[in-house]
Amino acid sequence: MHIVIVDPSRVVQAKLASELEAAGLYSDCFSMSDLALDYVAATPTVDVIVTSLELEPIPGLELCWKLRALAAEKRPLHIIVMSSNTSERALAEALDCGADDFIVKPIRREELMARLRAANRMITLQRQLVEQADTDYLTGALNRRAFIATMETKRRELDASDSLALCLMDVDKFKPINDTYGHEAGDTVLKTVARIAGEEAPVVARLSGAEFGLAFPILEATQAAHWCDVIRQNVAAHAFEGAAENVRMTCSFGVTEWAAGEPLNTALHRADQALRAAKAGGRNQISELLVPA
Ligand code: GH3
Ligand code: MG
Repeated sequence: MHIVIVDPSRVVQAKLASELEAAGLYSDCFSMSDLALDYVAATPTVDVIVTSLELEPIPGLELCWKLRALAAEKRPLHIIVMSSNTSERALAEALDCGADDFIVKPIRREELMARLRAANRMITLQRQLVEQADTDYLTGALNRRAFIATMETKRRELDASDSLALCLMDVDKFKPINDTYGHEAGDTVLKTVARIAGEEAPVVARLSGAEFGLAFPILEATQAAHWCDVIRQNVAAHAFEGAAENVRMTCSFGVTEWAAGEPLNTALHRADQALRAAKAGGRNQISELLVPA
């Protein structure tokens, strides 16, 4: 846990910080609420804020509300309000402004530690949920939703002149594996193919049944096709465990680039056309389609 303490009194800050330090917890202290807010906004590792309500220049309740707005879908942020005002109304107000918990001043060490343990449980759970929402349950690769989000982030992070190669990879003649050896053997093939692809491709996602999306930031289609060929050979060389004998599998690949300013769907459609060409060409091969000039 990375904790931020916000309190106008340096004495209170120092006392809390030393208690946390004794428990092996790292904290940063602020007297001014605007500086605390800027720091939390700029420091993604901060996940717990312990704050007073008597603050300047941003009043405590407004700070809670602004911190809550920072805690986007993917950022767990646990806000604990400290106050000597024990009225039910003060408590309700703090919670309504986005606080998760309330602790009465003067702070007792045992209570603070217990509340931080509760905070840790919440944050851990929230992190797990965020991770699960992005992950394909079978292979552990990204799911389609996370693939699209990752692609969009990568494209934004790169310069318009940088290339971003994109590949659709599909397991060849996969249906007969399910039919012959059972669904579990089919699942093992999917897990293994995802693992082999992950050894070469920086981004791997399972988009549907036996179809995977791969991304290679900075690479041009021809360079990405080289890495896809390594994946192709490694899959073809792998002995998959069947019921009685080892089974050989292959994959087909459709490679293109996602140009800056182009809708992602257009690039995905082009990769799909390339994949169909690889299938039509006899499978176990890579087909490239360049961005139209
Ligand atoms: P092709 O070479 O033309 O791609 O032939 P194919 O047999 O691989 O055909 P297709 O890609 O259409 O087959 C996908 C199959 O994947 C169909 C479906 O039964 C199976 N499938 C989809 N999801 C799962 C899954 O989670 N586990 C398993 N074992 N099979 C799945
Ligand atoms: Mg297939």
